Amino acid sequence: MRALRLVILGRQGSGKGTQALRISETFGCIHISTGDMLRAAVAAGSELGRQAEEVMNAGGLVGDDIMNGIVAERLGADDIMANGVLLDGFPRTSDQADALERICADQGVAIDRAINLDVPVDVVRERMVARGREDDTPEAIDKRLALYEEQTAPLLDWFGARDLLTTVDGVGSEDDVFERISAVIGR
Ligand code: AMP
Repeated sequence: MRALRLVILGRQGSGKGTQALRISETFGCIHISTGDMLRAAVAAGSELGRQAEEVMNAGGLVGDDIMNGIVAERLGADDIMANGVLLDGFPRTSDQADALERICADQGVAIDRAINLDVPVDVVRERMVARGREDDTPEAIDKRLALYEEQTAPLLDWFGARDLLTTVDGVGSEDDVFERISAVIGR
C-alpha cells in the first residue's frame, strides 16, 4: 500500500479520535496526535512538557514554533517515511499549516487529503454535556467550541484552496461514519 499522508480536522466531540484510530489501523498510516504527544511530555516531565503544561491547563495553544519543531522532527522519522501519517490535532493555526507545507516540501512528499469530520455545533455540545466530564461545564464547552471556530475556519479554507479538503458527514453510527471516510481515502 502507498504511504498515505492525511490530516483529520473536526470539533471536539466530533468522534475524530475514534475515527483516527480506525483509519490508521485500516490504512496502515501512523496516527500522530499532537495532544497525546504533549500529554506524554508533561507526564514525562521533559523540558517540552514543562513548557507546554501551563498553556494546556489554561486551555490555550502551545506556540507555533514549538509545535512546528516537534512535528517536523516526528514526520522525518523512518516509520512515517515508510508508512505514512494521519495527523490529528495539527495543524491548528494557519502558521502551522504553512509549516506543514514546508516540512513536506523539504521531504519531497505531499499531504494527500484533509478530512473534515463535520458534526454540527449543537450536536457536539449535546454529546459533551451528556458525557458529563468535570471540565465540561457549559461555559468551558462553549469556549472551546468558539476557539475551534476561530482557529479552524481559516484552515478549512487553507486546505480547500489547495483542493485537498473533503468534508465528511460525521453524524451517524461509528461504522457508518467510518465507511464514509474509507470511501474518501480509498478513492
Ligand atoms: P487535543 O488533545 O488535540 O485537544 O490537545 C490538547 C491540548 O494540547 C490543546 O488544548 C492545546 O493546548 C495543545 N495542543 C495540541 N495540539 C496543538 C497544536 N497543534 N498547536 C497548539 N497546541 C496544541
